[in-house]
Amino acid sequence: MKKLYKYIFSVALFFASALTVNAQDAFMEEVMLPEPLGKVDTVAQHATLLNEAYILPMSEMYPSWKNSGVHYSAVLPDSFRIDLSGAVMPTTNRRITDIFGYRPRRGRVHQGLDIKVQVGDTIYAAFDGKVRITTFQRRGYGHYVVIRHNNGIETLYAHLSKRLVTEDQNVKAGDPIGLGGNTGRSTGSHLHFETIIMGMSIDPAMMFDFENQKIKGDSYLFCKADPKHNEKVKAKYTQPKYHKVRSGDTIGKIAKKHGVSQKTIMRLNGLKSSSIIRPGQRLRIR
Ligand SMILES: [Zn+2]
Repeated sequence: MKKLYKYIFSVALFFASALTVNAQDAFMEEVMLPEPLGKVDTVAQHATLLNEAYILPMSEMYPSWKNSGVHYSAVLPDSFRIDLSGAVMPTTNRRITDIFGYRPRRGRVHQGLDIKVQVGDTIYAAFDGKVRITTFQRRGYGHYVVIRHNNGIETLYAHLSKRLVTEDQNVKAGDPIGLGGNTGRSTGSHLHFETIIMGMSIDPAMMFDFENQKIKGDSYLFCKADPKHNEKVKAKYTQPKYHKVRSGDTIGKIAKKHGVSQKTIMRLNGLKSSSIIRPGQRLRIR
């Protein structure tokens, strides 16, 4: 019996990697799928295999529990099926005021989706889970809540006027967790809503259709290499960013300003510790 499971798992892994390649090479006209077991002809078959392989136990995905730290880098699975059954829309409001994605002008990623809400509107937990963070961040999220869900993702609700849950509290999908507001770095009351897999934000619009107040399916297959939602996130880390040196600048000051290490700046620009930087000089900082 054990052997059989092992076999099923390895087959599933095989197809999972095939699908990942598929996603990576999305611009190819046709992707050849290997056929080790005769004809593999249905998408449903792939889906079933993936389903079995990638519902990881929460304890393996998240070995630790901390009441702080929203985003962090972790080794993500190549693909991961997110169970959306029982999901509830976090707000009954329908108007999207800002979408997820990379903002070249600001050089950063908008990590969530903004939905217009009125101050005092009830905000609901999207899935069953446990409240990991509930705190106030003056310059950023304002009053916000992060919930870790049994389906392996976390959701974040920001700019709330009031938080209605406490740390480590268990919640059910649809439980009120806060009231809509305009706290933190926010102009006009709205809900900033994020969906996060192991520290990385992915586009909530892949799962939640606020305009039509609908969940987009029973599950969502997240693929690490999928350009649909990931290119934008990757851009944050791969797009070069520059700093124009001003008088009085030191490598240390520049590093601090951009949140990178001095070592990185020196490496990217071929500088030595004896090198002198001059006003007007363009330094690559990412
Ligand atoms: Zn936002």
